Amino acid sequence: MAIKAPRGTKDVLPSESGSWQYVEKLMRDMCELYNIKEIRTPTFEHTELVQRGIGETTDIVQKEMYTFLDRSGRSITLKPEGTSPAVRAFIEHNLYNEPLPGKLFYITPVFRYEKPQAGRLREHHQFGIEIFGSKEPSADAEVISLAMDLYRRLKVKNLEININSIGCSKCRAEYNKALKEYLKANMDELCETCKDRFDRNPLRILDCKMDKCKEIVKDAPVIIDYLCEECSDHFEGLKKHLDVLGYKYNINPMIVRGLDYYTKTVFEIISNDIGAQGTVCGGGRYDGLFEECDGPPLPAVGFGMGIERLLLTLQSQNIELPVKNKIDVFIAALGKDAEIKAFNIINDLRKNNISADKDHMQRSLKGQMKYSDKINARYTIILGDDELDKNKVNIKNMETGEQTEAELDKIIDAIKSII
Ligand code: ATP
Ligand code: MG
Repeated sequence: MAIKAPRGTKDVLPSESGSWQYVEKLMRDMCELYNIKEIRTPTFEHTELVQRGIGETTDIVQKEMYTFLDRSGRSITLKPEGTSPAVRAFIEHNLYNEPLPGKLFYITPVFRYEKPQAGRLREHHQFGIEIFGSKEPSADAEVISLAMDLYRRLKVKNLEININSIGCSKCRAEYNKALKEYLKANMDELCETCKDRFDRNPLRILDCKMDKCKEIVKDAPVIIDYLCEECSDHFEGLKKHLDVLGYKYNINPMIVRGLDYYTKTVFEIISNDIGAQGTVCGGGRYDGLFEECDGPPLPAVGFGMGIERLLLTLQSQNIELPVKNKIDVFIAALGKDAEIKAFNIINDLRKNNISADKDHMQRSLKGQMKYSDKINARYTIILGDDELDKNKVNIKNMETGEQTEAELDKIIDAIKSII
């Protein structure tokens, strides 16, 4: 039996790659507008970075990592998110010595051993941005507004911004006490993972995907009522910056996000059009992460956006991207001399940045014309002995059927003048 791609992975086929390229280019162009530079980090990292950076009590570290020993016995993990590698690189290359904030973006595959389903893959791709070094709520609002600006440019509708604050270690301690008090009564009914989280990081129980746990935490106290003055002011600042741009948002106290390192702001942008896995973008602030990774105490904020879920959302809303699916010129050649000449001409056209192609399958003239149609050539030229003898060709506009006569030895200029 022929070998198939591993479970939970997806090939991007030629018919789909145009959409990928379109959204990736938009992401890059937008980052330029927002003064954000690209960072590329390795596909794998030391397992320790991922454990420390994401946190021992998260779903990712507890259940989803692709971890293996390499041939020298080192523990390696395929990157399950983009933030901790970006932080590691920022520290390793002393980028904090440059003017702050460091504004970075990445487009990267990420790997998580999940149960594959619609919108949930074992290898997916994320567009992420990070602002390192600013504690100001304007930075939080900027990352949210970039995500919304991207969706606006893609004409995505029906998105909901959900924001919350999970405070700092000071307010978290107070809140954890209240949450544990509440959960105590139902302790036995929590899933095994959450029982373990109860002592280590009770906040994570709010993010559990098990129905039973979800039911239990429904009426739990909410952290937003326990914020200290600084965190509360910060949250107000975020809201003000979102208000001034006219963004509507819900305050959703159940959002705590999947990673341990979050502080203060957490947010999710949700599409209601793609089923249960509707979070198209998630992010927040993680002021403790740099120190966790043995770096200087830099505050940080960012998001990760699933590109597959974005494309699913576009599809479900019937949004067609202006993907280029045409080539400029096809030359149908008849006979050996014409074939060589055609090969030479398409080469010259490409040098002039005009896309061009010819047959490579020894097709008949009829077959070549059919093929030209199939690949959406804008112009077709037939080249045979007669055309070679007379130094004359017809350039046919495939849309209008109109023909323009040109001299063969001036064909590049002739094509340039009509294209
Ligand atoms: P979820 O709650 O859906 O598991 P998460 O909290 O694990 O999400 P993040 O780690 O914040 O997600 O990842 C950022 C974004 O990446 C998500 O909002 C989503 O769009 C996308 N994403 C996460 N996991 C997957 C996956 N397994 N397959 C496809 N996209 C994913
Ligand atoms: Mg997850």
